[in-house]
Amino acid sequence: MTNTPILEVKDLQKYFGTHHVLRGMDLSVSAGETICLLGSSGSGKSTFLRCLNFMEMPSAGTITLDGNVVGMPSGQRDGSSTFTYRERDLIKVRSRIGMVFQQFNLFPHMTVLENVMEGLVIVRKLSRAEAENIARRNLEQVDMWDKAHQYPSRLSGGQQQRVAIARSLAMEPDVMLFDEVTSSLDPELVGEVLRSIQSLAKSGMTMIVVTHELGFAYHVADRVLFLHQGKILEQGTPQEVLKTPKESRTQEFLAGFN
Ligand code: ADP
Ligand code: MG
Repeated sequence: MTNTPILEVKDLQKYFGTHHVLRGMDLSVSAGETICLLGSSGSGKSTFLRCLNFMEMPSAGTITLDGNVVGMPSGQRDGSSTFTYRERDLIKVRSRIGMVFQQFNLFPHMTVLENVMEGLVIVRKLSRAEAENIARRNLEQVDMWDKAHQYPSRLSGGQQQRVAIARSLAMEPDVMLFDEVTSSLDPELVGEVLRSIQSLAKSGMTMIVVTHELGFAYHVADRVLFLHQGKILEQGTPQEVLKTPKESRTQEFLAGFN
């Protein structure tokens, strides 16, 4: 981990109509850092991740990726979209920030290998041989190369989710976002997916992981954030936030897991 901020968010705001969901998010992410984002349902975790790669348009704020400002505020924070950006910047950001969701969304009519190659061939315009090389490397990373020629329906949920991770990694993003990727899995399949994410963290990937797996957050995160009503209420080392939280909201949230 270095101290170079690869991603910087300043005063990010998001409204849905008059509903003020993100109320000034500030975050600086160092290259190689693993951040776990915790918070109750409805606190804005998914909206925050979706704003980072512009699946949702932020209402205001500044997002800087690797020193390039990709969006900045202009005008009023009255619910109208005041976020300005250049379209070509957004396309670049989307390709540099990978995201994996609770639902794996693999293409059912394609094999594991074809799923991972698809973006490389269609979006990156690589040859099939180049795409296969990259796909292989990323399937090996999540320990799924041996299933390369299977169809998703033949795989467990945990295996499908690992393929979804490989597919996102294959696009060689600078930052990976994980949104409760183990929440829809049977309990016995959660561990294998978390181990894949942990090995990715060890390999130096920069990641923001939304999770309710506190053990994972404790052992893998460099920093833990607690989000409450659209703001980061508390942050620190896993030890600080998970073992000795200062804020009563954080304490109540953590008490719910016991
Ligand atoms: P979390 O992921 O922490 O559970 P979300 O980011 O999904 O929280 O949601 C935060 C708030 O924003 C919730 O009140 C939710 O109802 C609202 N919200 C999320 N997405 C939309 C949307 N597309 N339109 C309107 N409201 C939304
Ligand atoms: Mg969510």
